[in-house]
Amino acid sequence: LPIVAIVGRPNVGKSTLFNRIIKSRVAIVEDEAGVTRDRIYAKAEWMGHEFILIDTGGITLESGEIEEQIKAQAEIAIDEADVIVLLGDVTSHMTNMDETIAKMLYRTKKPVILAVNKADNPEQRTDIYDFYSLGFGDPIPVSGSHGTGIGDLLDAVVGEFGDKANQHEDDAIRFSVIGRPNVGKSSIVNAILGEQRVIVADMEGTTRDAIDTSFTHDGQKYTIVDTAGIRRRGKVYEKTEKYSVLRAVSAIENSDLTLLVLDASTGIREQDKHVAGYAHDAGRGVIIVVNKWDLPEKDAHSMKQFEQTIRQEFQYLDYAPIIFVSAKTGQRIPDILNLVDEVHENQTRRIQSSVLNDLLLEATRITPTPLVNGKRLRIYYMTQVAINPPTFVVFVNDPELLHFSYKRFLINQLRQNFDFKGTPIKILARKRK
Ligand code: GDP
Repeated sequence: LPIVAIVGRPNVGKSTLFNRIIKSRVAIVEDEAGVTRDRIYAKAEWMGHEFILIDTGGITLESGEIEEQIKAQAEIAIDEADVIVLLGDVTSHMTNMDETIAKMLYRTKKPVILAVNKADNPEQRTDIYDFYSLGFGDPIPVSGSHGTGIGDLLDAVVGEFGDKANQHEDDAIRFSVIGRPNVGKSSIVNAILGEQRVIVADMEGTTRDAIDTSFTHDGQKYTIVDTAGIRRRGKVYEKTEKYSVLRAVSAIENSDLTLLVLDASTGIREQDKHVAGYAHDAGRGVIIVVNKWDLPEKDAHSMKQFEQTIRQEFQYLDYAPIIFVSAKTGQRIPDILNLVDEVHENQTRRIQSSVLNDLLLEATRITPTPLVNGKRLRIYYMTQVAINPPTFVVFVNDPELLHFSYKRFLINQLRQNFDFKGTPIKILARKRK
């Protein structure tokens, strides 16, 4: 997905605009510690174009002057975004700081769209012309709090996407490697690449492609998404937790499936669960890779025990296979690609409607549909509407009656009858006309 970053000096209203765009009522402006912690990015949609929106103002360094903070934020936009929205504030006119940010943005070849916030009423619209001098063309007046001008802004944003959406149309399996720092992501990538004596393809195209690594193994093409993000170290902002979250989310969104790396020597930490949550939410395939398996002292039960802990801690990832590897010794590293193949096959599996409806008949016979407030759920027909993740629509008498527990029952039936290991499954209910 394309990434759109909002930059601007403090208090121009970046978070308000961000919230307005993602149509959420989450008040990042009144951020309570812990609750909206990660809400610096969100998936948004405009006119059928999906994208990831980042509020760079939410990524702050642990220490540093305002100037340094803003510099880091502008750099993140330059490094990460496909389209940058530079936001000004009409009520305080243009400031030196706006100019400083603009100067940084001159360095990028990426499209920059200039928007001026807090243009709440028509009189203010004439004041926005100050901002012309920033050199990014016509400023678009918006009001984050009133919601005006947002459509014009988003038209301009999606107008810059080009055919990015169709960029990945080669037949490579795209996977990302995510996990908290030091679990061994880079080591695993290197081990996979080294093991295969791979041909690492020339990297061309957009900047995002340039950070992906492609190779062929046994006639199958693979792309490891965002290997640069895994290897690169050094910029100040890369140490911030929110930035690593953003990296992980963007890598997941740009891949078919994800290797979630855990560290056998440290066990499971809180941060592992955050990362796992993003992988699950994105609806992509997930493989849990327990690395550094050379380190712990083991007996015949160690693997089973670790597996049980994982199942307890990551209950929502019950579909994800677990593999125990050592990037250091190379143990089971070749099996990773086999699992990637398997999961990819499963997430692109299509089941014929006739087969699905036989299954549905049998399932509803074993476990009758629930009676909710005296009304029985009736399922007339089931059909698969999408792959990756496999998505099924059931046509029912009343969608409200399909509760979570019966949905889960149907998903389990699908899993028992077909191999969907490694991929989430979605079921949607539609009212039969
Ligand atoms: P990343 O931050 O997740 O990319 O982690 P790195 O790949 O940089 O690895 C972090 C540290 O763990 C390095 O010192 C590696 O040498 C070490 N390491 C990585 N994989 C293994 C492994 O399988 N076994 C052992 N013993 N050490 C490992």
